[in-house]
Amino acid sequence: MAKKLIVQKFGGSSVANVERIQNVAKRVADYKKKGNDVVVVVSALGDTTDELITLAGQVTNEPSEREMDMLLSTGEQISVALLAMALHKLKCQAISFTGAQVGIITDKSHTRARIVKINCDKIKEELKKGRVVIVAGFQGVTPEQDITTLGRGGSDLTAVALAKELSADECEIYTDVEGIYTTDPRIEPKAKKLAEITYDEMLEMASLGAQVMQARSIEVAKKFDVPIHVRSSFSANSGTMIIKEAKRMEDVLVNGITLNKGEAKITICDVPDKPGIAAKIFKELALVGVSVDMIVQNVSHLRSTDISFTVNKPGLAKGIKITKSLAKEIGAGEVLQDEDIARVSIVGVGMKSHPGVAANMFGTLAKEKINIEMISTSDISISCIIQKKFAEIAVKALHEEFGLSK
Ligand code: ADP
Ligand code: ASP
Ligand code: MG
Repeated sequence: MAKKLIVQKFGGSSVANVERIQNVAKRVADYKKKGNDVVVVVSALGDTTDELITLAGQVTNEPSEREMDMLLSTGEQISVALLAMALHKLKCQAISFTGAQVGIITDKSHTRARIVKINCDKIKEELKKGRVVIVAGFQGVTPEQDITTLGRGGSDLTAVALAKELSADECEIYTDVEGIYTTDPRIEPKAKKLAEITYDEMLEMASLGAQVMQARSIEVAKKFDVPIHVRSSFSANSGTMIIKEAKRMEDVLVNGITLNKGEAKITICDVPDKPGIAAKIFKELALVGVSVDMIVQNVSHLRSTDISFTVNKPGLAKGIKITKSLAKEIGAGEVLQDEDIARVSIVGVGMKSHPGVAANMFGTLAKEKINIEMISTSDISISCIIQKKFAEIAVKALHEEFGLSK
């Protein structure tokens, strides 16, 4: 068999404890023994990143983003070193590196940095020496030597970017489920594993909340046509291929349901109904880096209107602060916030050419007596904001309605 270069990424749950790290080491060593070159990307152990975020929050509620990156990048540094040691114990040559050490250069947007370039010389040198190269996921460094991180779930991006840059033969993402399912299998046990899914569908699902793959990593995979194999680190079964075009003859109407509980809703009441106000509000929010998602402005009969929009929960405090001061400035009324919301979405490239899918979705939620607070649509998805307590019921009902449980 010809020698292959394989990039393998192991997520936090795959390296959550010593036993699992040893399990990963065995897997990697087996691939290496077969004569392959192996580059491994690892995430922080278990919930380390969340724990570090909590820790920072106990020190201050406005931590500097640069220092957050200094803190969070330590999680991955622990896992790469431990995995290298576990491989050494198996008599497998291996060496670990931080993102900075292998030349993953990013821009300066701390906590959500973009990769500008990767210099793979060092990795290639080490592979030539016959070593497994272990790279800390989720991190890079600016040209000024400041450590950055690539956004939550960013180890996926590290893996895909390295696979592209090294022209790897395979890019495998190992996780704690067997692949990509029609919906989160932890919510709906009837969810089905998909043999393959297109970049577009995966990107939509990831952007709408399926955290199994980071959305940005799929953007890069799509751009450079890097096929990804998502599979379980606990079994030898093959998982799901994320590829350009699926082999199926006709596109299915809906092939995934997603849920996102990571957003909150802000409503500004009694906003004066005149040109320029919305522009002002959303410009100010953008300036402080609060990204806004769904926006709804009610039709007004009087001279004022309510504007509601969603933000990611980490941006809520900042968002509220800005909107409250803006509301005063423009003569608007109260500012309300609601953290108990969830977004349920249906995704499928087939819905482009099928009218009536939206009506079907709304009808399904109505049957469950679930109120829809906001709606947004794209070419290949429809999302509804509902109260969080109905989230799981909604996912299951939609999964059934669109024939995904069969
Ligand atoms: P890792 O630690 O390997 O990066 P993540 O927790 O980021 O793993 O992602 C895996 C989790 O994603 C699964 O445990 C599952 O609960 C969740 N998930 C959400 N939607 C899906 C889906 N459509 N298919 C598979 N898993 C999904
Ligand atoms: N440890 C980081 C996170 O929890 C990166 C990753 O897991 O991919 O977001
Ligand atoms: Mg992940």
